[in-house]
Amino acid sequence: MSSVFAGMKELPYWWEAAPRPDQEVPPLPGQVDVLIVGAGFSGLCVARVLARAGKSVLVCEADFIGYGASTRNGGMLGPSFHKLGMRGLTARYGSERMHAILRESIGFVDYVGTLIEEENIACDFHRSGRFRCASHPAHYEQMARELETLRATTGLEAEMVPAARIREEIGSDRFHGGVRYHIDGGLHPGKYHDGLVVAARQAGAVIAATTEVTKLQRSASGFRVSTSRGDVKAGQVAICTNGYTGKVTPGFRRRLLPIRSAMIATEPLPPQLMQRLMPTRRMYGDSRRVMAYYRPSPDGERILFGGRAVGPGDRPGKNARDLRRMLLDVFPELHKTRITHSWSGLVAYTFDHVPHLGEQDGLFYALGYCGSGVARSSYFGARLGHKMLGNEEEGATAFDDLPFETRPLYTGNPWFLPAIVRWQRMADRLGL
Ligand SMILES: Cc1cc2nc3c(=O)[nH]c(=O)nc-3n(C[C@H](O)[C@H](O)[C@H](O)COP(=O)(O)OP(=O)(O)OC[C@H]3O[C@@H](n4cnc5c(N)ncnc54)[C@H](O)[C@@H]3O)c2cc1C
Repeated sequence: MSSVFAGMKELPYWWEAAPRPDQEVPPLPGQVDVLIVGAGFSGLCVARVLARAGKSVLVCEADFIGYGASTRNGGMLGPSFHKLGMRGLTARYGSERMHAILRESIGFVDYVGTLIEEENIACDFHRSGRFRCASHPAHYEQMARELETLRATTGLEAEMVPAARIREEIGSDRFHGGVRYHIDGGLHPGKYHDGLVVAARQAGAVIAATTEVTKLQRSASGFRVSTSRGDVKAGQVAICTNGYTGKVTPGFRRRLLPIRSAMIATEPLPPQLMQRLMPTRRMYGDSRRVMAYYRPSPDGERILFGGRAVGPGDRPGKNARDLRRMLLDVFPELHKTRITHSWSGLVAYTFDHVPHLGEQDGLFYALGYCGSGVARSSYFGARLGHKMLGNEEEGATAFDDLPFETRPLYTGNPWFLPAIVRWQRMADRLGL
């Protein structure tokens, strides 16, 4: 292994300050009002709302608490407009619904900010804004058009930054300008997750590690839930398994495309270098189909850099080499910088590029954040909790009742993705 990878840890940088695993394995109650499958941001936010309303709540986590994407992500928060595929959504559901979705999305970061304040969670939350780099001149023009629509619809605070002024935002000559959003922000996902665990427990929820849900059967009073540690009767069940959705819920599995996303952390960089590379300390992304995302660590000393991992399973060595190549494409002067951490996790895409929540066959669910789930899963979790309580107004969202599609013969294994990613990389190279 080249010396820049010497001593690299194959675990999330975030786990240094928020160590895993939390393996609390409480005795299982025989019966609960609500059983939640998955202890990531979604499951914990559902649990918090329901437990605070006086329901008995059990959150079952197959592995350790925080095993999934929620403690592995980039900690970047925003409305995630660019992930929505606005043209496709408008064509499908009409501009009125599209505008309602955009307006609601504007509030996601505010929602998380308020939650963090209410629960007093020390998680380095900071509204630093985001800079989205144009990887091709045509992308800059497209971003400018998109921004006009967003401004007109939502009053979004943002402006275009032309190539000549890009050094105000990022120390790279790789891009053709970009767009600066002010409402986005960043947090430490490990600390945020820890804070949500405390909040859900304080509200009265029981969170059980190493308790895999293996079977769900309808019963007269709700569900009989089989777990790896015994059976539980539950009045209601919420599925919050996102990229880790398995065979226990085949109906959701065939509506989700699990995709691996990976990250690396650099060693601490000299302050002057950080100032040159990320002068505004924002969250960053680019406009390619196979995009990269990056940010300063909350202490401002390192660069955390992420992108899609190709191939089956977690391959931290290969991911680190691939991501370092992409990092050097943006910041060539980091060619001698050591990479200290490499890790990955699973996200879930949907066929219409929109996250979904609601009730299907008696099961409640919040799933499919398409790689942008820090703010959305927190918000969707809370809305789902209110839906389960029957609070119509607080449970309602602009995302309600969108058809949660699948494709013929698809059962949950996206075998066709490597070919699509190869095509997307080629289109990116050609600037299509
Ligand atoms: C590397 C990476 C970088 C990312 N960066 C960002 C970012 O910067 N910004 C952003 O907005 N989003 C980002 N995301 C996406 C974001 O992390 C997710 O959308 C979000 O965490 C989803 O939360 P969740 O609670 O729905 O699912 P998860 O946190 O994935 O939790 C699901 C849990 O369900 C459990 N589970 C599955 N099946 C069962 C079962 N049968 N029984 C019990 N438990 C079960 C799993 O073990 C898992 O812990 C990133 C993701 C990754 C992997």
